Amino acid sequence: MEKLKKLLIELKKEVGVDKDVKLKIVPMKEKIASLSIDTGILRLNRNVIEKLGEEELKYILLHELIHLKVNDVNHGSLFMEELEKYLEFEKTREIEIEMIKKLILEKRVR
Ligand SMILES: [Zn+2]
Repeated sequence: MEKLKKLLIELKKEVGVDKDVKLKIVPMKEKIASLSIDTGILRLNRNVIEKLGEEELKYILLHELIHLKVNDVNHGSLFMEELEKYLEFEKTREIEIEMIKKLILEKRVR
């Protein structure tokens, strides 16, 4: 949690988000993370984050901060263009695929 908070502060600076972001780690059924643009509450799924590495966690935080920055919960061209300023599209895809693999494999072995 401390590590995530520190990472969030660093990324907020990098992306240029001044708004208060409150990080909450909670169990969730179907999502990795959720964000309320109105309240600035960023929820991370506890069941998922413990299975992911630092690069993936960093990506999740960056992704959610970009939503805040562009003030849009969708993944339209404005969101994608902004995200690409910080992370190449290919790298984004690579990280997303790696996360999905980890989470699916985890389900399969249990
Ligand atoms: Zn998103």
